Amino acid sequence: MELQTELFKMNPLEELDERQLREFFGRNKTEMSCMDNPQTFLNQLRDNKLIPEEKYKEMTRITSIDKMKKNLYNLLCWIEEKQPQTIRLFWTCVFKEFIMTQYPTLKRLQDSLRKDQGDNLEEVTDERPRVGQNEFRVICGALSGKLHKSRFASGRCGNSIRTEDRWMSPVEFVEQGSAMPNALWKRDIQWEGQPLCSLIERKMLRLHSEQCDCPLCHPDPQALEEQKNDDYCFVCGRLGDLVMCDHCPRSFHQKCHLPQLDPSILGDDSAWMCTFCIWNMNEYLPRMTYEETLMHPVSNHMLQCHYLLLSLYNADKDHIFAKDPCIHVRGYSSQIVTPMWLDKITELLGQQYTVGQLLTDIQLIFSNCDQFNQNKPEFRDMGIKLKEFYEQEEEKVFRRQ
Ligand SMILES: [Zn+2]
Ligand SMILES: [Zn+2]
Ligand SMILES: [Zn+2]
Repeated sequence: MELQTELFKMNPLEELDERQLREFFGRNKTEMSCMDNPQTFLNQLRDNKLIPEEKYKEMTRITSIDKMKKNLYNLLCWIEEKQPQTIRLFWTCVFKEFIMTQYPTLKRLQDSLRKDQGDNLEEVTDERPRVGQNEFRVICGALSGKLHKSRFASGRCGNSIRTEDRWMSPVEFVEQGSAMPNALWKRDIQWEGQPLCSLIERKMLRLHSEQCDCPLCHPDPQALEEQKNDDYCFVCGRLGDLVMCDHCPRSFHQKCHLPQLDPSILGDDSAWMCTFCIWNMNEYLPRMTYEETLMHPVSNHMLQCHYLLLSLYNADKDHIFAKDPCIHVRGYSSQIVTPMWLDKITELLGQQYTVGQLLTDIQLIFSNCDQFNQNKPEFRDMGIKLKEFYEQEEEKVFRRQ
């Protein structure tokens, strides 16, 4: 498995998002607090301003080994609770070679992180594409898209660039984006201000040879057809058995789409259109005021409700708001009186529920997030960003005057 060996050489921290790094920290606090003679470890934390001076001094005064373990544990809890935004820096600092030679525990933790990633890669069917590593934001003229490494073969082979409304090859992308008749894909498609060829030179993208006979360079008709759609679910971002829309590049798990699809659709070749495409085709003309709409049962406005929820699931890229936070977030239920999450709202659509209640419940997700994360700006901002996105969509969907 070429991809896997490549990954082993990489810094495992680069592959994880903030939440995964925090979870890893949370799981391993106890183990870290049992380190023998943690002086160097503490020095390193202090030198990188990960702990305040007074806490550092307090620790260095301790002479009893048991007390040291207890206090070290408390110190790690303090970082976790009060400074969650520093956890990436924490791992970067303690996974330094000179620190790890002194503390086998840390070496073991770094190895387990690498191993976890290797294991994850084997379960390819349930793996979210690794944003940042395998995807590159590219532009050409006014056209923008994401180039997916796994689909890239050459200028003409592999529909590797996903724009807002379709997948295309680099050559098609440059033809559509550039106004120049002699535009070249390697030169005129830009990634972070540099020509695309720089990704190839840095070996971040592999250009297939002309003799290459891989499925990207020689796709069969079915593979060519499948290249028109996403390889991952638009809602949850995972791979698996997907239903592909025949009018747009989106793909969905049958259970992730709203409305949920009958399992038989997976073996069915007849044309299918997703909720987004149906929504876009239907010009919605409000026959009532916004206030009247709020009083209506959701069943009268199901298309709008589905559209709104699917858009939210997709915009919530880290899947922070989809599941019950009481199960996933420590201390949540003790602080938040009325928890709310997207899956719960989806469930409520099938019950006695008005549009007004739906919109109130969505807002509740955001106000809970704001309240719970008062001291965690990174998470608070995720809620604020999603709320902004939601309010634009909601306005569009219900044509608020
Ligand atoms: Zn090839
Ligand atoms: Zn899905
Ligand atoms: Zn569609």
